[in-house]
Amino acid sequence: MAADAAAPTMDLTRARIPPLQPKPGSYALLLRPSTSGWVTIGRLGTLTLNGGCLIYVGSAQGPGGVAARCRHHLLARAKPHWHLDYLRPHCRVIGIWVHYGTTNLEHDWARALATLPGATHPLPRFGASDCSRCPAHLARLPRCPSARTMRRCFADGRLIRLQDTD
Ligand SMILES: [Zn+2]
Repeated sequence: MAADAAAPTMDLTRARIPPLQPKPGSYALLLRPSTSGWVTIGRLGTLTLNGGCLIYVGSAQGPGGVAARCRHHLLARAKPHWHLDYLRPHCRVIGIWVHYGTTNLEHDWARALATLPGATHPLPRFGASDCSRCPAHLARLPRCPSARTMRRCFADGRLIRLQDTD
C-alpha cells in the first residue's frame, strides 16, 4: 500500500519538472481554466473564462531557452510580467507542445490554431503586443486538441503531457 500511496507524488514531481531542454525553441501551452468569470490581464483588458481549452503560443530564444520559459509559466508568479502571468493562476497547464530551433514558429502556430473548428480569440492582442501579424497569441478551443490534431496544425514538435499540478 505504501508504494501505491507514493506513486501520485512521484508522478506529480515528474509533472512539475517536465523533460524540457534549455535550448531555443517555440512552445504552445495547453491550459484548462480552473474557474469561470472575468480575469483582468494587466492593461490589455479583461478575458472571460468559460471552460474549453486555451492555447498560448510563444517562443524562447534567450538564456535557458524553452525550459526556463516554460518553468516560469508552470510556476504561477506573484508579480506578473507576461500577459500569461495574469491568466496562469486561473488555469491548469495540461500539456506543452515543443519545437526546438531558432525559428520562431509562434506566429505560424497562432494562425494555424485560428483555423481549427470553433477557435476564437478571447482577448485580442493577448501575448502579441509586439506582433503585427496575429490577432492574438492565445486561442480558445471548445475542447483540448488531440496530439494528432496538434501535429496536423503545428507540423513539427511533440506534445509533453502534464498532470494537473495545481
Ligand atoms: Zn504573432
